[in-house]
Amino acid sequence: MTDQTQASVPARTPVYAKMAVVGCGLIGSSVIRAARAKGVVGAVAVADASPEHRTRIEALGYADSVHADAAEAVRDADLVVFAVPVMAMGPAMAAAAPGLKAGATITDVGSVKGSVADALAAAAPDGVFVIPGHPVAGTEQSGPDAGFATLFENRWNILTPQKRTDAPYQAALERLTEFWMALGARVELMDERHHDLVLAVTSHLPHLIAYNIVGTAEDLAGRSVGDITVGEVLKYSAGGFRDFTRIAASDPVMWRDVFLANKDAVLEVLGRFTEDLQALSRAIRWGEGDKLEQLFTRTREIRLGIVAAGQENAEPNFGRDRRP
Ligand code: NAP
Repeated sequence: MTDQTQASVPARTPVYAKMAVVGCGLIGSSVIRAARAKGVVGAVAVADASPEHRTRIEALGYADSVHADAAEAVRDADLVVFAVPVMAMGPAMAAAAPGLKAGATITDVGSVKGSVADALAAAAPDGVFVIPGHPVAGTEQSGPDAGFATLFENRWNILTPQKRTDAPYQAALERLTEFWMALGARVELMDERHHDLVLAVTSHLPHLIAYNIVGTAEDLAGRSVGDITVGEVLKYSAGGFRDFTRIAASDPVMWRDVFLANKDAVLEVLGRFTEDLQALSRAIRWGEGDKLEQLFTRTREIRLGIVAAGQENAEPNFGRDRRP
């Protein structure tokens, strides 16, 4: 793993004369907005499968051309960014392939890298540079209206380059790194399988837990356990539960695909998590307060570390209490 970050690079001339984005929802539209704001691309073409989204993208006016056909959008593009759900990456690449120009750089923003890297490589024609990536930045919203230009600022983009050492590929990697740094991101290079294990811990499992706890609460509401009502779940959701509902509101298709595509790593981490949960349950049953306190002290340190690293602000309750 190598931290590619040095100083932020103010872009004076476009890094790419033409960028095509296939799939223009939260992440795809954020890439376009950020690239436009920083002046790092010339023309922008978009392909999206959704007729409603295409109409909306045209109305928003941040693309020079909007297409249903990916092969048309990528024609003459120097950079192609695939920003569709993870399981759609291979088919989207296959659809775009006839239009790709030799020497184009192909990247993606998928939350899973091993299977996506394989799918992109399998569908790519000869003569293009495939450099998979994952900007670790997002929100629980989706669609072309949800994106914003500052999404990637001070966030990591993990690139998982192919095991190629030839000079043209290295030059393409340097150029893509320059592009992401101009968008404000910090760039790290990582092996794709290692990426999938790390993200299973830091992102995929937390989402699974959130989906599960909100589902459990809804299931309990109005049922036999203590006669909890849906009204009570909503009324008293000012505590930790509310934070889980934000995560559990994330796009169902995107997250279905993440778990299907990162099955092995998620199941491995879930097994370990289940063991630790059993140990916690035992500590509560036997009144082992010292064990609980030790764990909670360690976890508080983790939170302080994330704030200190600039990946989260230190405001209590995420600053919500200041809102009118
Ligand atoms: P999104 O807002 O739902 O946007 C995806 C767009 O792609 C939609 O307009 C969708 O249309 C379209 N699409 C689906 N299949 C397509 C295809 N084969 N060809 C062309 N367009 C297609 O999703 P997102 O949140 O931006 O996520 C996109 C990718 O970024 C995913 O791979 C995800 O894992 C990754 N990512 C997401 C986050 C996050 O926080 N959301 C963070 C980092 C990375 P339909 O709506 O009609 O399907």
